[in-house]
Order: sequence, then structure tokens, then C-alpha cells
Amino acid sequence: MTASVSLSKKASAPGWFLDEVIRATPGISRLEMCIQCGTCGGSCPSAGDMDHTPRQLFAMIRADMRDAVLRSNTPWHCVSCYYCTVRCPQEVHITDVMYALKSMAIQAKLYHDAVGPDFSQTFIDYVENYGRSFEFGLATRHNLRHHPLNIPSMIPMGLGMLTRGRMDLTPQRIEGLEQLQAILARAKQLEESA
Ligand code: SF4
Ligand code: SF4
Repeated sequence: MTASVSLSKKASAPGWFLDEVIRATPGISRLEMCIQCGTCGGSCPSAGDMDHTPRQLFAMIRADMRDAVLRSNTPWHCVSCYYCTVRCPQEVHITDVMYALKSMAIQAKLYHDAVGPDFSQTFIDYVENYGRSFEFGLATRHNLRHHPLNIPSMIPMGLGMLTRGRMDLTPQRIEGLEQLQAILARAKQLEESA
């Protein structure tokens, strides 16, 4: 279900939060080019779970509704399929904006709930320690913590993936992990000094 959005409250002072989001988005966002056509929400496979469609969220950003945007579950339901991005007539980098909003919500501690941030942190932990994701550990840790009742229903799929060699039981380190860790450390330094 998507919620209706009233933009009237803060429409008198638009732009500050829009600038903040544009600055936080890696590369160029083109967010200021959004014409509110709604193609993104109409294309999004996760729109039904989002409390605001991407179009609504971008209208809220323009209206300076900072807290409401950062509390929204919308970025956390984005599965990074890039479908909206390739269909946007204005070439707004929507998926990258979603990443930026997640990062901003974590920094501001305004995220919808801890499920999404925890999942991201677990993913990052594996990448930092092994250089890649580890699906078995990621799914196990995440579901034990947040959805323990889901685990029995996931066992058949997990066993199927293990027996077909589509998933490892233990994490595998990539070659050249030290180089990746150095890159990640430098990226963190740059982010902190920005
Ligand atoms: S598809 Fe692009 S222009 Fe249309 S509402 Fe979404 S972001 Fe804005
Ligand atoms: S990238 Fe995210 S917001 Fe865009 S269509 Fe896919 S799930 Fe929806």
C-alpha cells in the first residue's frame, strides 16, 4: 500500500534537502530533473511494499520533508533491479538515490526499522572480511535475528541450493583481499572527510 502525501506544509521552503540528497548520491543523480511522471513507481516490482512510491518520495524530498523521507521504508524495499532507472524519461539515477537515502537514514538514525540496516551491515561485514558476499551466512544470520519463524520454510530451498552447488557452506576469501580492504578503508576515509 502506498500512502498519500501532502506536500503543502513545507513547500514554502523547498530545496535544502534536495541539495543534500544530490550531494550524497554517488556520481550524478539528476534528481532535480524529475518531472513527477510516475514511470518509476509503475515499473517498480517492490512498489506494493513501499509506503511511498519513488515518485512520491522525490516529491517529498523537493518539499524538504527530511525526517519523513529518511523514515520511509521505500529505499529499504528497493532491490536494486535498476528497472526504474532505465525507464525514467529524465534519466534520473533512481537506484543510486535509493542507496544514498539508505546511507543518510543510517547516519541520521531515522530508518524505518532495524531490519534493512542490519541486513546491509551483515552484507558489508562479509565483503570486508572475505571480499564477497556469503549467501548462506547472510541468510542464516539475518533470519535468525529478524525472522526466526521463517527458517523452517527456507530449509528445502537452502538444501536444494547446497546440493546443486549454488551456495557454499563456508565463506570463501577472494585473492587480493588486502587490496580490496585498502580500497574500502580509503573510501571510508574519503566519506568521513567529505
Ligand atoms: S520516472 Fe523519472 S521523471 Fe518520472 S517520476 Fe520517476 S524519477 Fe521522476
Ligand atoms: S531499482 Fe529499486 S526503486 Fe527502482 S524499480 Fe528496482 S526496486 Fe524499484
